[in-house]
Amino acid sequence: MLSIRGAITAAENVREEILAAAEELLNEIIGANTLTNEQIISIIFTVTEDLDAAYPAEAARRLGIVQAGLLCMRDMYVKNSLQRCIRVIVFAENGKSQSEAVHIYLREAQILRKDLARTCAVAIDGPSGVGKSTLAKALAKELSFIYVDTGAMYRAAAVYYMRLATWPERDESVLSDMRISIEYIDGVQHIFLNGEDVTDQLRTKEVTFASSAKISVNRAVREKLLYLQREIAQKNNVIMDGRDIGTRVLPWAQVKIYLDADIHTRTLRRLNDIIGGDYETVKKEIESRDYRDSHREHDPLTKAEDAIYLDTGNMSLDEVKQKALDLIREGIAVSLSRGIT
Ligand code: C5P
Repeated sequence: MLSIRGAITAAENVREEILAAAEELLNEIIGANTLTNEQIISIIFTVTEDLDAAYPAEAARRLGIVQAGLLCMRDMYVKNSLQRCIRVIVFAENGKSQSEAVHIYLREAQILRKDLARTCAVAIDGPSGVGKSTLAKALAKELSFIYVDTGAMYRAAAVYYMRLATWPERDESVLSDMRISIEYIDGVQHIFLNGEDVTDQLRTKEVTFASSAKISVNRAVREKLLYLQREIAQKNNVIMDGRDIGTRVLPWAQVKIYLDADIHTRTLRRLNDIIGGDYETVKKEIESRDYRDSHREHDPLTKAEDAIYLDTGNMSLDEVKQKALDLIREGIAVSLSRGIT
């Protein structure tokens, strides 16, 4: 008999979220282990104490698992452990040996078994102008990972709202019509807004200001982009850069790097990237963006506890890249040997 473990997190303590999460987890377990419903003997579900809006076993019935014995229980409480978590153990008989069991950990629950992760994730966070995207692009090329520039997604959302001449604080409802997607053309990331390639429109002063002051402060916008960012990371090996990647988007990332540098260095780096612009104006713009990004209510810029702090003030790009590559190789090797539950 096979014993298969799995876990997933529910977005919220609401009935449909719990059932959708349980269904997604069971579907993945069934698919990865090539099980039929009839081969499943029993399933035990546990939920953390913050989930009480539905019994996850209902999801199994919805999937047509009608013969198996099902039981829902509350998981033991452990201080500071993962919240809104649904765990399962599935017992099945399909002639395979236990060594062939494929255990499945999804969404934030990937943090529980980093050793089982099916994709690699490197999170790079830090303030404006520090060189995150230059580094991330170089690393992605070197490692053949996908580079995901999450700032560009916030910028595309800014373009969307600017065109409608409104802001999320006034009008969250239009969010449902905003479709942002990423495509890679000759290895270069392009951002599409409702089917239109807007990559060339994301770097104006107005978009930069709006993305930080009006867009990224809104919780609903953040939730929508979070979903998209996680979806990419579930399917690909990624180097993802932004402000909340290590803390919020990919807390299970095998490697987290927090890049920093003094304001003078960052101003010079930014001046190097743009055409025109004077030192004082660029410095002020970076300072005020830093302040907003690190003082907002939702997912402010902060170093994840397990991120490695890298002061790049006196380092060349090549040195930073080499250091990051060492950290990534080491971090992936360590995480492969580490599993908690
Ligand atoms: O990185 P970039 O400068 O393109 O980001 C534009 C803005 O998007 C940032 O100033 C920040 O307000 C927001 N952002 C964010 N979370 C991320 C990435 C960007 O809030 N993960």
